[in-house]
Amino acid sequence: MSLALYDTWSRTVRPFTALQPSHVGLYCCGPTVYDHAHIGNLRTYVFEDVLRRVLELNGYKVQHVVNITDVGHLVSDADEGEDKMEKGSRRTGKSAWEIAERYTRAFMSDWRALNLLEPTLWCRATDHIAEQIAFVAELERTGYTYQTNDGVYFDTSRQDDYGHLARLDHAGLQAGKRVALGEKRSATDFALWKFSPPGSTRQMEWDSPWGRGFPGWHIECSAMSAKYLGPWFDIHCGGEDHIAVHHSNEIAQTQARHGTRSANFWMHGHFLTLDAAKMSKSSGDFLRLQSLIDRGIDPLAYRYLCLGAHYRSKLRFNHEALEAAQAALDRLRKAYTSWPVGGTADEDFVARFNAEVNQDLNLPRALAVLWELVRSELPDETRRATVDVFDAVLGLQLAEWRADTFEIPADVADLARQRGEARARKDWPESDRLREVLRAKGWQIEDGADGQRLSPLDAKGA
Ligand code: AMP
Ligand code: ZN
Repeated sequence: MSLALYDTWSRTVRPFTALQPSHVGLYCCGPTVYDHAHIGNLRTYVFEDVLRRVLELNGYKVQHVVNITDVGHLVSDADEGEDKMEKGSRRTGKSAWEIAERYTRAFMSDWRALNLLEPTLWCRATDHIAEQIAFVAELERTGYTYQTNDGVYFDTSRQDDYGHLARLDHAGLQAGKRVALGEKRSATDFALWKFSPPGSTRQMEWDSPWGRGFPGWHIECSAMSAKYLGPWFDIHCGGEDHIAVHHSNEIAQTQARHGTRSANFWMHGHFLTLDAAKMSKSSGDFLRLQSLIDRGIDPLAYRYLCLGAHYRSKLRFNHEALEAAQAALDRLRKAYTSWPVGGTADEDFVARFNAEVNQDLNLPRALAVLWELVRSELPDETRRATVDVFDAVLGLQLAEWRADTFEIPADVADLARQRGEARARKDWPESDRLREVLRAKGWQIEDGADGQRLSPLDAKGA
């Protein structure tokens, strides 16, 4: 088997070889925990999870590191505006530390609901302030920084190939600068350390050689990836929005300090879009996993939807496509559970499936192989055993799924959906009223961490 992956650095699909035999270091930029993750963010984590599973399929042991951004990510990529955490704190009336805790927990619950493999390590930016300060101090010592009234900045003019990852025209950007620079010398320079505003205290701030303040957003990933995976590791991932700024800046810093571009492969998941517009957490109005669950969708149906689009193409979200994904998953579960255990996987099908996933994670084609298998004339137990092999990559938890032993009538399903929507918009009287209507019809609703669950009154836990 040979694995080939698309590398944004070289803009090519090229053969993947690990830097150390049978071991892969994988760093994925994690969530900024000032609010819930939206389903767009989650698409990127599904892509990264599939990548990890495919690496494991190829026999690699993956050291998978995911960070939690709980400080320093400013509202604007141009190093201006508020820290998103402090903004979240104002929105909710809770402390920045409390909301970090709350949304980290919510994120991990989404993570498990989507059956994403647990990373080898989660690391928080606020637990690595000393490493970030040491990184900046080293950049300062080697002349890559300058100081302004509001912080310490990285001087991108020191690097001729700054922005190569994004194919930025650095010289052109310098010449044609029209952006408000503040005290920055160049539009592409970025903050390494920001000072707390004079005369005020931030909720999250630390002492540093340059004054009290907080780290810039990019330095956390460079400091933590180097700490846990070394300054030259295999794969660094994120969403496509990270190419131009966040990852270009990570590379600049690491190049300056360690002389490497940090990772051998840079991989990026393309966006999930909603009605052609970018789905943005900061716009305040977004779909999260719970919004889908409230409409009766299984989180794994969302996972299935993501698998159906190649990670390097945009996925335009709509509810019809999601419902089709749910229907396909239901059909697959039904077929799978009707087949007996005890067979052996069909080698030809496995080889075809593996070839697709090894060709830059071509999951849409791999799903086509899956359905061809389901519809094939192979013995039932062979089909089941083959799907088991596929599911190690697909992560649809087919073997764990248990069919509900009851049918839900259409009117009951409709009431349950309305009740879920009432709950989602925190309309408690309506939500309680609908619960009672359902009870009168002989159905009960239980609210759990992954949404509401409907069951007949006389068959609790069925
Ligand atoms: P954030 O929580 O904003 O730091 O983003 C977490 C991850 O989600 C990053 O890898 C982003 O690149 C990614 N991301 C943000 N928006 C989208 C979107 N609409 N579709 C897919 N991935 C996204
Ligand atoms: Zn990052």
